[in-house]
Amino acid sequence: MNVHESDKIAALLTSHGLTRTDDHETADILIFNTCTVRNTAEEKIISHIGLAHSQKRGGRRVTIAVVGCLSQREGVATSLMKKFPRLDIILGTHNIGRIATAVDNATAGKKTLDIITEREDFTVPVTDTVRTDNTDLVTHKPGTDTHFINITYGCENYCTYCIVPYVRGKLISRPMSEIESEFAEYKTGTVYLLGQNVNSYKCPETNTDFVGLLRHLSRDTNVMLNFLSSHPRDFTNELAAEIASNPRIDKNIHLPIQSGSTRILKLMNRGYTADDFRAKIANLRALCVDVKLTTDIICGFPSETDDDFAETMQLVRDIKFNAAFIFPYSRRSGTPADKMPDQIPQKIKKERTTKLIELQRQIANAKIQP
Ligand code: SAH
Ligand code: SF4
Repeated sequence: MNVHESDKIAALLTSHGLTRTDDHETADILIFNTCTVRNTAEEKIISHIGLAHSQKRGGRRVTIAVVGCLSQREGVATSLMKKFPRLDIILGTHNIGRIATAVDNATAGKKTLDIITEREDFTVPVTDTVRTDNTDLVTHKPGTDTHFINITYGCENYCTYCIVPYVRGKLISRPMSEIESEFAEYKTGTVYLLGQNVNSYKCPETNTDFVGLLRHLSRDTNVMLNFLSSHPRDFTNELAAEIASNPRIDKNIHLPIQSGSTRILKLMNRGYTADDFRAKIANLRALCVDVKLTTDIICGFPSETDDDFAETMQLVRDIKFNAAFIFPYSRRSGTPADKMPDQIPQKIKKERTTKLIELQRQIANAKIQP
């Protein structure tokens, strides 16, 4: 999502006469597109901003902008401006369409601190920056032909650990006609349909659901389709059957489980049990033998016991994911889990994370053995 949004920002500025560079030493404008999903992401970006802020660059004036999820958090934009008085621009998640105006204002010596709470529509120009086979501009997977299209914005699932609904706002599905015309730009490679929970897609004009959208887009194209992320609760048999039968759907499926303990999943407000997840995977694998699965797992959610963690380990052993993104639980202020009792000590969270990463590494290695 962030890679795609950075590409959109680059496209807006390219069409405004600027040139994109990844060389931050010589750039005239530095844009930090931030993430706030875990505390470590936040700390890293703040230290990078601090570094950029303190660099002298021989008196050369550099515009510094901070955009995205971190700036959208309550009170953060103002405190960033206070902490880093040479910051020129702060925009949130809903108004990156204003970046070119903000850059012009910065050039004229005027600061922008602009956070709004509802998504604002803007058109991303068709430029080489977003629509390209030119891999030097596609940062996600160099050397591959990978494209992204947002199908939804925001999220209303309110998983209790997650900050996303608070910084990305309510769920909005884009009209299928809009997605279709963006999709038509791509003739080769793989298009990732993006949303926090793609399965909750519903076209506001035609009521077409996610499976309908996949069928529609894949009818007459050479492009492969993938999507990020699916929510196990809404991963239906119909979707599994579509993945299996549709030759234009990539068989690498990302399905975040978060925990293997049903008790913890309930506290996380995920809306499925560990057994539901196992059943969905068994069904998908029965229909589609060549499917490859990846997942996300959080270790040390409040009150997670050794037994809960053992259930996660067992589920990982049983399912044998091709890869897993495993992180310690990170407290996010403003989320329900942050106020839950029995927070797990950092040391235990880290130990569990390391143990699970090691287990997953062995599983992934065993899978690639001939
Ligand atoms: N919408 C997607 C992903 C959103 S965030 C989904 O539901 O799967 C990406 C991943 O970050 C999540 O899958 C989760 O594993 C992780 N994550 C989110 N909040 C977190 C937190 N507070 N601590 C640790 N990991 C978190
Ligand atoms: Fe966060 Fe849950 Fe929404 Fe994913 S589905 S973005 S984890 S609230």
